[in-house]
Amino acid sequence: MLKVKKFGGTSVANKERIYNVANRCIEDYKRGDKIVLVLSAMGKHTDELISLANDISSNVPKREMDMLFTVGEQITVSLMAMAFDKLGVPAISLNAFQVRMLTNDNYGDASIEKIETERIKKELEEGKIVIVTGFQGIDKNNNYTTLGRGGSDTTAVALAATLKADTCEIYTDVDGVYTADPRIVENAIKLENISYDEMLELSNLGAGVLHNKSVKIAKECDIKLIVRSSLSKAERNNSI
Ligand code: ADP
Ligand code: ASP
Ligand code: MG
Repeated sequence: MLKVKKFGGTSVANKERIYNVANRCIEDYKRGDKIVLVLSAMGKHTDELISLANDISSNVPKREMDMLFTVGEQITVSLMAMAFDKLGVPAISLNAFQVRMLTNDNYGDASIEKIETERIKKELEEGKIVIVTGFQGIDKNNNYTTLGRGGSDTTAVALAATLKADTCEIYTDVDGVYTADPRIVENAIKLENISYDEMLELSNLGAGVLHNKSVKIAKECDIKLIVRSSLSKAERNNSI
């Protein structure tokens, strides 16, 4: 099976969590699955990059902000590849430029137009786990772009659609999609299944658990999304 797995910032926030993600992937890899891993920046690193930029100027050029943003995801993917190396499993990290993840030039809120698959497929054929930077793309002039806050979900779904993956699993810090943000609404109920339209409505209302564009692509391409906790081992999850 070809599996796309996406882990958000909290799930890769430190060394222990990076190894936790690596070990979870290795379980599937050893069962014979091919794995494309999409990662976000560690913890709140993207917010820290915004603070750094705001310290320089209150009106930073959007192109330069995206250039800065891409650093966050690049740190995570390279550290993850190092963890796999340490665990004796072949893996390679690729950024948007190396994949060639093409977007329009709407800096800060770009949309994916095309993902070239040649490099990813070659690395998978060679038996490697392929680790891809979430959130970032390149425009037709090879400038870095980003997909909007929370955009790594969209990278994962677009990759799953383009590669015709068998599954697209979104690992986060809650164990599924709830009727409302479970961190705010105490009696929010976990939804075992939710339709694309219901999920779109939730994300339009600000439910950051899935990036709005990712749900749109999932609907268009009929990609079933599975939302799981990266922190608990239990297979409590739900699907969209
Ligand atoms: P990640 O860094 O893994 O992408 P996010 O912070 O983007 O994680 O999304 C997960 C968060 O989304 C949860 O911690 C939760 O507070 C929030 N959230 C908002 N609405 C919902 C909802 N309806 N169901 C689940 N989580 C939600
Ligand atoms: N790192 C980016 C952000 O914090 C993208 C993501 O996490 O999906 O918005
Ligand atoms: Mg997110």
